Amino acid sequence: MSEKPQKVAIIGTGMAGLITSYILRTDPRFDVEVFEKQAQLSLDSASLTVSSGPDNDQKQHRIDLPMRVFADGFYANLKRMYDFFGVQYASPRFIYTMSRISDPGSTEIHPHFIHSSNNHQLPPLRPKGCSWIEWLMRVVYLAVCYYYFVACCFFVAPRTTSDTGLSESFRDYAKRIHIPGHYIKNYFLPLMSCVTTCSHNQLLDFPAIDVIGYQTKTFRKPHYTVLGGVNKVQAKLSKGQKVRYSAAVTAVENVGSKVKVTWKDGSREEVKSLFFDHVVLAVTPDVLRAIFPPLRKILAAVPTTPVHSIVHRDFARLPACSQVISARLHADNDRSSTHPIHIISNASTTESTHQHPSSVLISTSPIVPIDSEKVISSTTFTRVLRTPTSRQVTLDIFESKPTGPDGDSKQWQNGDGNVWLVGGWCWDGMVMLEGCIASAIRVAEKLNIEVPWAS
Ligand SMILES: Cc1cc2nc3c(=O)[nH]c(=O)nc-3n(C[C@H](O)[C@H](O)[C@H](O)COP(=O)(O)OP(=O)(O)OC[C@H]3O[C@@H](n4cnc5c(N)ncnc54)[C@H](O)[C@@H]3O)c2cc1C
Repeated sequence: MSEKPQKVAIIGTGMAGLITSYILRTDPRFDVEVFEKQAQLSLDSASLTVSSGPDNDQKQHRIDLPMRVFADGFYANLKRMYDFFGVQYASPRFIYTMSRISDPGSTEIHPHFIHSSNNHQLPPLRPKGCSWIEWLMRVVYLAVCYYYFVACCFFVAPRTTSDTGLSESFRDYAKRIHIPGHYIKNYFLPLMSCVTTCSHNQLLDFPAIDVIGYQTKTFRKPHYTVLGGVNKVQAKLSKGQKVRYSAAVTAVENVGSKVKVTWKDGSREEVKSLFFDHVVLAVTPDVLRAIFPPLRKILAAVPTTPVHSIVHRDFARLPACSQVISARLHADNDRSSTHPIHIISNASTTESTHQHPSSVLISTSPIVPIDSEKVISSTTFTRVLRTPTSRQVTLDIFESKPTGPDGDSKQWQNGDGNVWLVGGWCWDGMVMLEGCIASAIRVAEKLNIEVPWAS
């Protein structure tokens, strides 16, 4: 007689929750139910479709929010999964204009450098108002700094701080390798904070090993975006999945050999509970602290920050940035393969504005005011940050490391009481989509489930 399937609840329908539910559903030993506090699946919930505009051909464009870029080298598992599903992706040519503003509220933005992804545009474009001599000196200075920095990433390993046992921060690593502060402040931090979507100080506090890992793995590797949008991935992962929408989980507790999930049903304003054999929490650490008591204290050391993304048509704020690359855009026969990204920094933070081929702008962490009448949508995401301390907390949760005097770990670890954690932050690296899939695969391995795209 076949055994009754084990009941599994997955909380959250971001990339991590959906991948875990997909893998578990391939095994008849598990009966999976998914809880999502929103009224729709969340992976693609902020994305939108826009038309090119009245003067154009009214072509429909899907805009992924966030952009969900991935690259060779760093995203081995994600790429394998996309290939398994036949999801198509392409490598856009990104052109980054870099500008600085000194006064808050300033609208005068003039690029001081233009950089292209993987240096596909050589020599780099010369910004308007920059003399040939000045431009040449800047290019040479940046090339020397960049290749010195890359060499350090490959050959100078980050240290462990002897008194704390924690890994070195990127701030300390940059000082130790004597990379010029001017380069770090005006070029490296603005570019890198577009990837990490956080302030310069938060990025300096990252473990050096994260920044170095990302830099070395993606060095000279193409970056990709999904053609037609991440909704294609969401559709593949969620096909046939039972989902309880508008179900905000308020507590997850071990009761005997079961795990009790309590949630507020938003559609009926009712509080409900059910018992499961396993629960997979695919939520950010701030949510985990609120709903899962064993991690309430320890996850206080894992910082999160809100990130605002605004889709709009306020081109008036970027005249100089758009002008400088307009010739390059006109030269592009297929107007959709060149993607300008305008990087605008002040002393502490960076805005990135993606000039989408559909003639909309997507501003992440805007620092220059946007005309509210030109706003199409506005979304706030939660970004999980990394510090040497949060890295240690994550390692302690996910790596089996007995710490008590009798050899037993005193701290809650992944899988204790049949409760599992997955998410972009649930691995030892930069908090990205690859962390979602790596952590989902870890759960699959612990439950002896074969990952469909592994073979
Ligand atoms: C602005 C921005 C840009 C980014 N760009 C990239 C990029 O280009 N490439 C890349 O690789 N990574 C990028 N990232 C990182 C990447 O998007 C995240 O690491 C990844 O989306 C995290 O997915 P997740 O499934 O772990 O969590 P989330 O996507 O945060 O999903 C958590 C889910 O839990 C649900 N939830 C929360 N509370 C409850 C509750 N109480 N009950 C039920 N459900 C609940 C939420 O609604 C959501 O569905 C970016 C992140 C941000 C913020």
